[in-house]
Amino acid sequence: MHRVFSGIQPSGELHLGNYVGAVKNWVALQAEFECVYSIVDLHAITQPYDPAVLAARTLEMAVGLLAAGLDPSRCTLFVQSHVPQHAELMWVLNTVTPLGHLERMTQFKDKAARQESVPAGLLNYPVLQAADILLYRADRVPVGEDQLQHLELAREIAHKFNLRFGEGFFPEPEPILSTTKRVLGLDGQAKMSKSLGNTIGLLESPEEIWAKLRPAMTDPARKTRKDPGDPDVCNIFTIHKAFSSSEQVAHVDRQCRTAGWGCLECKRLLADNMIAALAPVRERAAEWRARPERVREVLGDGAARCRALAEATMVEVRRVLGLASW
Ligand code: SF4
Repeated sequence: MHRVFSGIQPSGELHLGNYVGAVKNWVALQAEFECVYSIVDLHAITQPYDPAVLAARTLEMAVGLLAAGLDPSRCTLFVQSHVPQHAELMWVLNTVTPLGHLERMTQFKDKAARQESVPAGLLNYPVLQAADILLYRADRVPVGEDQLQHLELAREIAHKFNLRFGEGFFPEPEPILSTTKRVLGLDGQAKMSKSLGNTIGLLESPEEIWAKLRPAMTDPARKTRKDPGDPDVCNIFTIHKAFSSSEQVAHVDRQCRTAGWGCLECKRLLADNMIAALAPVRERAAEWRARPERVREVLGDGAARCRALAEATMVEVRRVLGLASW
């Protein structure tokens, strides 16, 4: 059976963007593959962050993932820093990764341009991602378009390692490409991100969902109720596709293009569907939140399993590298 690996940063509460763009798919993949999912706190510390809240955000992210439908009996969920072999393999992979490839990564260039002093960890971020995947010899990775470049690099790193140390040592992981268009922030400008304050939290109340959805950006060319709109450029339509039935999506498309309704009616239908779909998620989150010791136990079990898998890989890695084993 194919093994899937994917990770998410511990940004606290899950928001609509990461649910629609990744986690909804993670839940579905559990039925088909052996899935290993990680809360990647070592990735999170490559950007400015508050150490006082990192652990609480990690736990809150675990609550969100479990509430969204990750089932500990069907997948492995763990915290990246609880498996020290991630950092060890990353160091090894650094030795076969060309510097120029890292400097060409779009995400590195974007983030580095916004910082006065660029930490080396930001440059090496994709090497840690490669280590995350290869440590478990995962051969499938669910990705959106924006992560394809990093996965391509992970494949190349695996290839270079294999050339140097043994044909077929690591599988070259294949993407499971998400067909979902990326959900933008409520401002319609940038990707939905907690740091930009343009999110809807997955566990927010029905009133909060509506309060945020109501003023959200739509097709900017649709200035009045009488103007026909273009759903293909509207973020609300993208979210409809994740929460509304195919008949409703077709109805939205028609009503928008013919100016058959106003954006507020369109958003109300979406809000009702979202609230109904997310009600059980909110209920499960309340249950998990009431038992933090059980959440920590799930993460502990996941980390124990991953440490065993990771150590098995690292024993082989150390052997082929020729490191002294006495
Ligand atoms: S009617 Fe709906 S899909 Fe069309 S622009 Fe308004 S919110 Fe977007």
